[in-house]
Formats: sequence, C-alpha cells, structure tokens
Amino acid sequence: MDSLVFDLMQQENFEAIYFFQEKTSGLKAVIAIHDTTLGPAAGGIRMWNYGSEKEAIQDAIRLAQAMTYKWAAAGANLGGGKCVIIGDPKHEKTESLLRRLGRFIQRLNGQFLAGPDVGTTIQDMDVIAQECSFIVPASEEKGGSGDSSPATATGVVQAMRACLQALSGSPDLRGRTVAIQGAGAVGRAVAERLVQAGAVVTIADIDRERVEQVAADYGVSIAHPEEIVYLPVDIYCPCALGAILNDTTIPNLQCQIVCGSANNQLAEARHGEMLAQRGILYAPDYIVNAGGALWSIESLAPGGFDRQRAGAAVARIFETITMVIELAREQNISTARAADLLAERRIAAVPGQGQAQPVP
Ligand code: NAD
Repeated sequence: MDSLVFDLMQQENFEAIYFFQEKTSGLKAVIAIHDTTLGPAAGGIRMWNYGSEKEAIQDAIRLAQAMTYKWAAAGANLGGGKCVIIGDPKHEKTESLLRRLGRFIQRLNGQFLAGPDVGTTIQDMDVIAQECSFIVPASEEKGGSGDSSPATATGVVQAMRACLQALSGSPDLRGRTVAIQGAGAVGRAVAERLVQAGAVVTIADIDRERVEQVAADYGVSIAHPEEIVYLPVDIYCPCALGAILNDTTIPNLQCQIVCGSANNQLAEARHGEMLAQRGILYAPDYIVNAGGALWSIESLAPGGFDRQRAGAAVARIFETITMVIELAREQNISTARAADLLAERRIAAVPGQGQAQPVP
C-alpha cells in the first residue's frame, strides 16, 4: 500500500494524501490534495461503496487532479482536492460519521474546502459544517448558493453558444438542433434553456417517466436512449454517462459539436484527437460543466453569496471555451489537449513556479 500511494503521488506530482479513520462512527476517508499553486484545494466529498481501499485512493487521486484542471481552466484561484468516504451512503451515512469527518477537515486548517458530490447532499454539508469552517456553504438557509444544477446547465448553454460562434460566426441557438442524453437535474435544465432560446430539442433517458415529464413540460421530442448519440443534429449534449465518446460511438456520430455536462466523456485521452480528426468540435467536459462549481464557490467570497457575481462567473464559460478553441486552432491540437494546456499555463504563470524558493 505504501508504495502504491507514493508511486501514484510521484507519477501525478501530488502534494498530499491524508487518511482518516474513526472507529465508533465507522468513518474511513481519504483526502487527496493535488496542487495548491493557485489557492487552497477545493472539491467534493464523495461517499461510495468502494470494492477496496486501493480503489478509493485511486478515485480520490484521479478526482483531485481533475479539480486542479477544472479550477485552473475556469480562472478560479483554487487548487485541486477531493475527499472520498469509503462506505454505502444509503446505509452507513450517519450524523456521527459526517461530524467526525468535519473535525478531520477542520484539522487541515483550510488546505481543503469541501462541497457535496456523489453520495452526499447539501444537507450533509450543513451537518459537517457544525464541526468545520471549511465547508462551502450549500443550503440557502445557511447563506449558501442552493442547488447548483441550474448553474451547470447555464454553463453548458454558454459553451454551446461559444462553439456555434466559433463554427458559424453567430452564437444564436434559434433553429439549432440539439440531442440531449439524460433528463436528470442538468439535462432537464439544459432543455428548458434551449427551448427558451428557440432551439429544436430531442431528449432521451432510460427513465421513461423522467423523460416524458421533460417532454410534457417543455414540448421537446423524445428519442430512444440507444439512438440519441447518433442523431443527425448540430449539437450532441451528453448529460448522463462518462466514457460515452469512445471507439464505438465516435465513428458513428452525426453531429458538428459535442457539448454536455457529463463528467469524463472521453473514454481515453486519444478520443479527443479522434473527434478532432473527424472534424467534430468537442467542448471539453470539465470546462463545460464548471458552472455549478463556479456558482457554489462564490459563497466563499467576502460578504457571502452574490447571485450577480456568481452568474457572471458562470457566463465566463463562453470566453473560456472560445479561448480553448482558439488555442487548439493556433497550435493545431485537439480542444481536449488545448483545455489541459490552458490550465497548465495558468498554473505555470504563478510567480515562483518551477523556481527555487528562498528560505525566509
Ligand atoms: P442525474 O442523476 O440527475 O441525471 C442523470 C440522468 O441520466 C438520469 O435521469 C439517468 O436516468 C440518465 N441516464 C443514465 N444512463 C442513461 C443512458 N444510458 N441513456 C440516457 N439517460 C441515461 O445527474 P445530473 O446531476 O443531471 O448530472 C448529469 C451529468 O453531469 C453527470 O455525469 C454528472 O456527473 C455531471 N455533472 C453534473 C453537475 C451538476 O451540477 N449536477 C455538475 C458537473 C457535472
């Protein structure tokens, strides 16, 4: 185990990994801090029934690194971190466990700022915050920003507009055809915004009731979940699964643009190049879906959450995607690689990076 952790830390240049356990509550958690060059590490607390401790560590490492890139590319002064709790959120999540975790996060003294993720809720954050001052306020009653899915959807639509602008010279969505995969919290809100903007929307979900509700609410068409990826549309918008852009789907896509909220859409990094070779404009997922995170962290600003400032941060996704597309064109690289490059450049631009620091 020792060598697994140090090997992974070395490979990915990690700053720190913390392990916490507490017997009475059954808490077992890992906090990975990837890079704090731009600011304190911020990321979600995920609770998952991992098959092994090794799996949990690997997940924390992968997710923390992704957060470094997400914040850097979005222009936020935050670093990458993630907490994973090993356990079944349905049966093992108790107030005692969450509060114990809060005490451990408090001990890190602001190195790690936490919010909700898979397996934890806005309400859980309020419980943890009883023990800890480094939780991004989530519930509106506690001065937080509330549910962040609508902001994620707004960011997705901003990214779509930026892609259309780059391809056709106009960000106008009127008459544009969009296929949304997933009618969950984000997919539903994307559909609402697109219909308002005059786009022609088709949506699919494996949950029949959910998709029918969205169709009834916004007057959009329904497609079969197996077909949605392959519809001949201007924009394919993945809002469900990861790894949906792969060797099977990419050769059969019939869209001009891929732009959606799903995390880790590329099955492997090379699939970013494959999309570029097919002439499909891929809007990198971690920039497209940063709206919710940008919205939530505004509640950390002095004076607390401000809707206008948070809205402006989300709207800037348009500029970030535009920058990525321009960088990809200039350097003749894929947009996926250009997004990473943009993030790496922002980190490298911090004074003192890569130079020996004088002893104070
Ligand atoms: P959600 O769980 O509310 O919705 C996901 C929907 O996808 C569900 O309705 C589910 O039935 C559907 N689905 C699953 N498999 C499917 C398939 N094969 N075909 C069609 N539909 C399928 O999740 P969400 O909050 O809407 O998030 C959607 C995606 O965006 C996830 O990948 C999530 O990680 C990512 N994301 C969400 C946010 C946010 O603010 N909620 C932020 C960043 C990224």
